[in-house]
Amino acid sequence: KNHIAGPSSGHHQEAYRGTGRRPGLISGIRPTGELHVGNYYGALKGLVDLQERYDARYFIADIHSLTTHPKPDDLRGHVVGTARNYLAGGLDPERCTLYVQSSLAAEICELHTYLSMVMPLGELMRVPTFKEKAKRHPDNVNYGLVGYPVLMAADILLFKAETVMVGDDQLVHLEIARTIARRFNQLYGNVFPEPRPLIDNAARIPSLSGAGKMSKSDGASAYISLQDDELAVEEKTRKALSDPSRVYREQPGHPTAEGCNVFHLHTFFTGEAEREQIADLCLSARIGCVECKRKLARSLSGVVEPFRQRRERLSEADTLELLRIGRDKARASARQVIAEVRQAMGLQML
Ligand code: ATP
Ligand code: MG
Repeated sequence: KNHIAGPSSGHHQEAYRGTGRRPGLISGIRPTGELHVGNYYGALKGLVDLQERYDARYFIADIHSLTTHPKPDDLRGHVVGTARNYLAGGLDPERCTLYVQSSLAAEICELHTYLSMVMPLGELMRVPTFKEKAKRHPDNVNYGLVGYPVLMAADILLFKAETVMVGDDQLVHLEIARTIARRFNQLYGNVFPEPRPLIDNAARIPSLSGAGKMSKSDGASAYISLQDDELAVEEKTRKALSDPSRVYREQPGHPTAEGCNVFHLHTFFTGEAEREQIADLCLSARIGCVECKRKLARSLSGVVEPFRQRRERLSEADTLELLRIGRDKARASARQVIAEVRQAMGLQML
């Protein structure tokens, strides 16, 4: 099932058919360190699929995170942890390019400076996400926060990426990147393609608590982390909200996505045949919630366990080595683009 669909995906695939090349795609990952099964389904799985069809570049957006969190507890630990998680989740350094944004700071920040000259300040200050953040944290409205979309444009244009995988909250920023590319091209000649969005339409995995989607910020008991061992998965699932109208074991339940949170979770993690069987048993009260949750825990562990084991086999040293390889690969093409940009602008190097 292809849960990634965007306005431009078909177009780009078509243009490259038979050329032996793949269209360029880029996506940033926030260095939060931990991931839950919702992140896996909603984000990571899509990136893993896309690396097969695109020349995909994924970067850990550590510089971006400084715009709102200038001094996080352990940024380095989060960056390495995020890389480890994404590698364990199936990003393959042979297929894609995975790098840390700050390891390409020289190139990204140089391009950012040039791009900042073609971007009117007034337009940046009218960006809704900026206005909202400035209102929420009036004491932390830094220069970098206003420039966030320009830095994002530099990330994208540095690779002349044609496709950008974003959540719909980032569409406004991507539109700015398109505007910047257009203005730059008008001034200095045709250097950059206008990047297009590939929006992730993945389903939202519900929280164990039954309140909205699974989220890190709701506390560890409401989500299944990809680091949870089988016992933790079992215990958290046992406490998950099921059908609140089913009070006694003898009552039939409501095995639908709307009627029962546990069944809703089954729809994502349990195969169709087993799910139908569970629905059947639940409707005739031949299975209770405890047993049903045990089955869900087994399904969840089927996703989490292989991930956890791959993650454990991947040492920090190996992760750093892979990030170095990614950096070198990314830097080689970035330097070519920087040379082209300088040439177009008349910034001749000695
Ligand atoms: P926070 O509570 O800090 O916002 P989060 O759990 O919502 O954290 P994010 O870091 O905001 O996670 O999101 C990372 C990626 O995972 C995004 O692409 C987002 O769309 C996706 N995602 C987050 N939660 C879910 C979910 N429950 N189901 C599917 N996708 C999700
Ligand atoms: Mg979120």
